[in-house]
Amino acid sequence: MTDRKAQLAANLAQVEERITSACAAVGRKREEVTLIVVTKTYPASDVRMLHELGVRHVAENRDQDAAPKATACADLSLTWHFVGQLQTNKVRSVTSYADVVQSVDRIKLVTALSAAAVRAERELGCLIQVALDAESGERGERGGVAPDGIEELAAAVDAAEGLRLDGLMTVAPLAGPFAGRQRAAFDRLMEFATRLRAGHPAATMVSAGMSADLEDAVAAGATHVRVGTAVLGVRPGLG
Ligand SMILES: *Cc1c(COP(=O)(O)O)cnc(C)c1O
Repeated sequence: MTDRKAQLAANLAQVEERITSACAAVGRKREEVTLIVVTKTYPASDVRMLHELGVRHVAENRDQDAAPKATACADLSLTWHFVGQLQTNKVRSVTSYADVVQSVDRIKLVTALSAAAVRAERELGCLIQVALDAESGERGERGGVAPDGIEELAAAVDAAEGLRLDGLMTVAPLAGPFAGRQRAAFDRLMEFATRLRAGHPAATMVSAGMSADLEDAVAAGATHVRVGTAVLGVRPGLG
């Protein structure tokens, strides 16, 4: 094993242990939580090693970075999640490799994703990104729709050809009433997820929790955690 692969293996084992303990602490089964490794800013060679180590879900947040990486890894059986703020002019590219877009936060994006999915003859999974700190009708600083906009977007995704409504995603807010209160934030997201499922029973995904707060997300009931730093190391510069 190369040094890098050994390092990734050790980090993965640690994250695995954290998820297992977090599940055990609240009586959840380990299989109820899917680990998504956020590979942004790291090279395709890391994605390849992660695949060799058993990772099957990866996430990226910038199309410029993700598109060539996905092409370089096209031979691997991986589910690609797009988790960044998405401009409509990048939608066609993202739709060519992403299996799930977790950052759906406005109607215009739903329309663009649907057109691109139909054109590419693909079905795209969609999560509504919820900005827990956004006011009614607004979007969050890190993307996401205000909670009272969830249902309208969900209905739009449901009605859109080529799109599949999979659930909700959030990033713990840095400001507002939930700043520094990850557990409360994720509990709130779960309330919205439960409400969403009442009208859309197939929308079972709840994506929450990152390297610093995955335990809070697992405790709240997240089905997917998105972990970057704890697996790959601290990112140099932006990302
Ligand atoms: C970068 C990123 C993550 C991973 O964050 P870490 O702190 O590195 O684990 C998760 N979700 C989103 C939306 C991200 O952009």
